[in-house]
Amino acid sequence: MQETYQECDVLIIGSGIAGASVGYFLLNEQPDTSVVMLEAESTTSFHTTGRSAAFLLPFYGGDKVAPLTKFSKLFYEESPENFTTTPLLQHRGALHIANPDQMHSLERYYKEAISFIPELEMQTKEDVCARVPILNDNYVAGGIYDPDCYDLDVSAIHHGFLRGFQTAGGELYTNAQVVEISPNEGGGWLVASKAGVFKTKKLVNAAGAWGDKVAEMAGVAPIGLMPLRRTIVVCPLGEVDKQWPLVIDIDDGFYFRPEGEGLLASPGDETPSEPCDCQPEEIDIAKTAHDLEAITGKVVAKIDSKWAGLRTFTPDRVPAIGFDTGFDGQHDGFFWCVGQGGFGIQTAPAIGQLSADLLLGRPINTELLKQGVKPDSFAPKRF
Ligand SMILES: Cc1cc2nc3c(=O)[nH]c(=O)nc-3n(C[C@H](O)[C@H](O)[C@H](O)COP(=O)(O)OP(=O)(O)OC[C@H]3O[C@@H](n4cnc5c(N)ncnc54)[C@H](O)[C@@H]3O)c2cc1C
Repeated sequence: MQETYQECDVLIIGSGIAGASVGYFLLNEQPDTSVVMLEAESTTSFHTTGRSAAFLLPFYGGDKVAPLTKFSKLFYEESPENFTTTPLLQHRGALHIANPDQMHSLERYYKEAISFIPELEMQTKEDVCARVPILNDNYVAGGIYDPDCYDLDVSAIHHGFLRGFQTAGGELYTNAQVVEISPNEGGGWLVASKAGVFKTKKLVNAAGAWGDKVAEMAGVAPIGLMPLRRTIVVCPLGEVDKQWPLVIDIDDGFYFRPEGEGLLASPGDETPSEPCDCQPEEIDIAKTAHDLEAITGKVVAKIDSKWAGLRTFTPDRVPAIGFDTGFDGQHDGFFWCVGQGGFGIQTAPAIGQLSADLLLGRPINTELLKQGVKPDSFAPKRF
């Protein structure tokens, strides 16, 4: 590896929402830390962060993830001065729907979620169809209305984190793919990238779908990350009321919500993939149209736009946040911040704050603990 290098306290690999929020909270907590962020692409939101469906569902991801979302919602509601000039949340509401075969799933979800979201309302078939009249009453058997669901302004959130990071002295390099990582003899890591070589005390792996590849490069055991492709389609579908809630299948299958004059919809696909710039497949676009037609009884005549992105999960679908424990001290300072699956935007402030506290060896933020976040449940050593 080249002999001249730039030194820093913390180096973050990846500038998606994970890397951006960690960088932001690190410098917020300890402004004299020198932090470098390296991004392989020429822009910061090229991969998953730029491809989300942009909503916040309080219980999405289950009971370990829900407290992260609770903390993050508070941050989005009252973001610090200079973070943004636009509201980050817009009220939407969510309607979980079930067909006759799924009524048991509806009851199970209600029992699990009601302690987190006391506002949940069970809905009859008639209630559901009155809320979203485009739904086919031959398909729907019942539902649950969750008033506490929001559209997120992902671009404003992501850029709020990146701007805050850079304003506080953080250095962001794009076109800076990391190609080699080796432990430094005196401790820490040497990281070679297309933008130069860096020596860092601590290394943050926020590389999304590439998380295991980055670990392998550093000689750290992978944790079994699963990048799963998900497809989104935007299309017109008759008269759409922009105030309709997000409509989502109770078993985490298809969903749709108003977008512009039409609907944004997904079949809820989860196709295993290598880390890559994934594109929507014809079969998933056709399935989205088929599902929408079955659920609404309307014909999808035209697709306005489509995309796909990788939602990356750990083996237990709970994020991995914390230092790798290693086995001989060789892995000192290798920090995982991966596995945000389908909830990485709605949990970013909590994951950023928790990561910063762990990286700096500080007591965990009291508001995180108050909202029920249990840092141990994210410890990478469980894999
Ligand atoms: C279709 C879809 C819908 C979604 N809907 C929602 C939603 O409604 N709400 C929600 O909260 N979440 C949603 N998500 C999930 C959310 O988008 C992700 O959890 C989040 O964006 C993951 O962020 P990340 O920073 O980990 O990954 P990314 O945004 O992929 O960032 C990782 C970055 O690391 C870089 N990188 C990788 N390897 C290297 C290397 N060797 N050197 C340098 N850089 C490297 C990559 O180029 C990339 O930019 C959705 C995801 C998809 C795909």
